[in-house]
Amino acid sequence: MLPQPLKIAMISVHSCPLGKLGSRDTGGMNVYIKELAHELSQKGNMVDIYTRTEPEHGGVIEIADNIRVIHLGLGSDDEIPKLAIYAYLQYFICGMENFRKSRDINYHLIHSHYWLSGLIGKQLKSWWNIPHLCMFHTLGAIKNSIGIGEDEPELRIESERDIVQEADRIIAATERESQELIAYYGAPAHKIGVIPCGVNTKIFNHIDKYSARQRLGLDHENIILFVGRIEPLKGLRRILEALPLMKTEKPSRLMIVGGDEHNKDELAILRTMSQELRIEDRVTFIGSVAHDTLPLFYGSADVCVIPSYYESFGMVALESLACGTPIVATDVGGMRNIISSKEVGYIVDNNSPHQLASRISDILSINGNSKKNTILRRERAQKFSWSNIADRVLAQYQNALEHEIVSL
Ligand code: UDP
Repeated sequence: MLPQPLKIAMISVHSCPLGKLGSRDTGGMNVYIKELAHELSQKGNMVDIYTRTEPEHGGVIEIADNIRVIHLGLGSDDEIPKLAIYAYLQYFICGMENFRKSRDINYHLIHSHYWLSGLIGKQLKSWWNIPHLCMFHTLGAIKNSIGIGEDEPELRIESERDIVQEADRIIAATERESQELIAYYGAPAHKIGVIPCGVNTKIFNHIDKYSARQRLGLDHENIILFVGRIEPLKGLRRILEALPLMKTEKPSRLMIVGGDEHNKDELAILRTMSQELRIEDRVTFIGSVAHDTLPLFYGSADVCVIPSYYESFGMVALESLACGTPIVATDVGGMRNIISSKEVGYIVDNNSPHQLASRISDILSINGNSKKNTILRRERAQKFSWSNIADRVLAQYQNALEHEIVSL
C-alpha cells in the first residue's frame, strides 16, 4: 500500500511547467509534468514541482490543491543557457533542502525529469534516503546518433549513464526508448517501466471543421498542420520540401504552429527555404499558440504532420487524434503505438519529402473525415487518458518504495 498522501518531490530544473509552450525548451515535458501532477493530486497525493526562477514566474505558486510549483534561483543570473545550469546544480540542491526544511516536509520519493534534474535526484536520493525515479524525455546519445542539430556534449551522456545506474526506477515512454536505454547506457532492464504519455481529452475535443475554420478566418483549401517546438530535429525542412510534390485537386496550405523569438534562426532558415521553393504564399507561420486554443487548429486541419527525426513520444499525435484529425508521422517515438489503422493515419519509414508527400496526398484525396473515422480517432486517443497514465506511474512509485523497504 502506498502512503496517503504520497509526498512527491518532482524536479524540472531547466524548464518551468508554467512556461509558454512551443517556445525553445518548453514542450511535451512541461505538459507531461503538469498533467501528471494534476492526476496524482486528484488521486489524493501531494506534488511539489521544483524549477528554476524565470523572469515571468517566481516564488511558490499553488497551481491546484496539493500541487505547488516552487521557483528557486540558481545562485546567479537565472536566464543562463540550458547547459550552463550544470554549474549551478549545487545551489539548486541547497535551495530544495532549505525549502523542505522550512516547511517541515518529508518526501516519500523524488521524480526527476531530464538529465539535469536527474543529477539533482541522484544526489538528493542519498541525502534524503528516499527512492529516485527518473524520466529522461530525450536521450543525448540518441540525438547524437541521428546527427541533426547541435551535438550533445559528453558531459550529458556520462551524466545520463550515471543516473541510470543510480536511479531506483526509470520511466521510458516507449519500448523503443527502453531498448535504447539498455543498448546505449547499459541500463538494467529490470529497473525500466514503459509508460506512454497521455492526452487531456477535455481540452482536446472534436470541433466541427467548418466552425473551427470560421473562427480562425480560414477558407476551403487543404490544411496541413504542424504543431511543435521549432528545431531541426522536428524535420520541418523536409515537410517544406514535400509541399511542392503533393498531387491534390485543391491547393494546400501548411500551417506551422510553434516558435517565438528564441527560434529566430531556424525560423529564418524555414522562411528562406519557402521562398526558394516558391511556396511562401502556401506556408503560414502562426507562432506559439496557447495549449487550450490548439483544438481550433487541429479541428480546422485535414491532416496533422509529424516529420520528426526523433521524438521521445510525440504527444501532438494524440492531441490531433483527440480532435478527430488524422496523422502522417515518421516512425519515431510512440507512433507505432498510436497509429493503429489507416483511418488514424500513416507511418512513413523516414521523413523523405516523397514519402511525406505521398501519404499526405493519400489522406487529402479521400474524404477521411467521416463521422465514423472521427469517432475511431477519438477512441484511439482516449486509450491514453492521463488518469490511466498516473495509475501506471503510481505503480512504479509503489515498486520503488517496496524495493526500498526490502533493501533496508
Ligand atoms: N504546444 C503548445 N503550443 C504550441 C506548440 C506546442 O501548446 O504553440 C504543445 C503541444 O500541444 C504538445 C507539446 O507542446 O502538448 C509538444 O509535445 P510533443 O511531445 O509533441 O513534443 P516535444 O516538445 O516533447 O518534443
